[in-house]
Amino acid sequence: MKAVRFRTTGGPEVLEHVDIDAPTPGPGQVLVDVEYAGVNFIDTYHRSGLYPMPLPSGNGLEGVGTVSAIGDGVTDRQVGQRIAWADTVGSYAEQVAVRADRSFVVPDGVDSPTACALALQGMTAHYLAFSTFPLGAEHTALIYAAAGGVGRILVQLAVQRGARVLACTSTEAKADAVRALGAHEVIAYRDVDVAARVRELTDGVGADVVYDSVGAATWQSSLDSLRPRGTGVFYGNASGPVPPFDLQELNKRGSLFVTRPKLFDYVATEAELASRAASLHRLVTSGDLKVDIHATYPLAEAAQAQRDLESGATAGKLLLKV
Ligand code: NDP
Repeated sequence: MKAVRFRTTGGPEVLEHVDIDAPTPGPGQVLVDVEYAGVNFIDTYHRSGLYPMPLPSGNGLEGVGTVSAIGDGVTDRQVGQRIAWADTVGSYAEQVAVRADRSFVVPDGVDSPTACALALQGMTAHYLAFSTFPLGAEHTALIYAAAGGVGRILVQLAVQRGARVLACTSTEAKADAVRALGAHEVIAYRDVDVAARVRELTDGVGADVVYDSVGAATWQSSLDSLRPRGTGVFYGNASGPVPPFDLQELNKRGSLFVTRPKLFDYVATEAELASRAASLHRLVTSGDLKVDIHATYPLAEAAQAQRDLESGATAGKLLLKV
């Protein structure tokens, strides 16, 4: 079967489209014929070595497909079922062995590209809005990369929860997209003093929460944009990781809170994974959540898909059609 793998870390060019033996499902696993694999920033961190992996390695964590064989001990999955997952290394492949208890069944009313996008980006937006900082009508949220894959789902969830959303984007087209999703204000964050603009928009108070996935380039403005006792949620590294900083920075700005969350701690149990999946599927089938697919590439063009994601020019989900 075909799969995308890398033997050394580096740029997208280290990704190879190769023939490998198909996996056999071990105990607790199911074999899946992959329909779509999702392209996510974490795949680029694995490939570049920012998050070290044993080499050689497969790439990709997320996908959707049809169960074609069942491993020992699996009782709640059946051949022919459509499932999705977000934490199986090597998901850029025609077949993958997935832990049954780390997958969820996709209902008929959710199409496969959408199910794939929900598995990692949707789940991330869900835990950020519902659990890391449970948003409500009393909150103002500043959201970076708001037109991105996670960002546009997060904007919709935040609006549904009644929060006032200040959305940061880099282009007019992205600004139009997030306005259409319900963002109350758009900040062209690369061109203005974000913290000053947030103060203007909040009568000098600041935001209750900042969701920052850009990292190195924006973390200081994010802290500066918060109200006293506000919460900085630093959940990504699109421009590089947030550098080490002095805790006094939180004190000086008014007893701030910061957290550096990751998805896998918020879907740590099968029950939590299933409950977030059910919540997202309900929102999609009722028409209350829209997932936008930016582009779909053949599996062999995984390197180009990652180049495009890393360019910062994409707006929505990137998929590999397997
Ligand atoms: P996006 O679709 O949001 O793409 C990244 C966006 O970041 C770009 O479109 C761009 O938006 C912005 N950006 C700013 N600076 C840069 C830069 N130097 N290079 C590239 N992009 C830049 O990606 P995802 O939705 O897939 O992921 C967003 C972030 O969320 C990533 O950092 C990822 O690691 C993180 N993440 C974290 C998770 C967690 O649990 N902690 C789970 C999932 C994702 P603009 O044009 O508006 O600036």
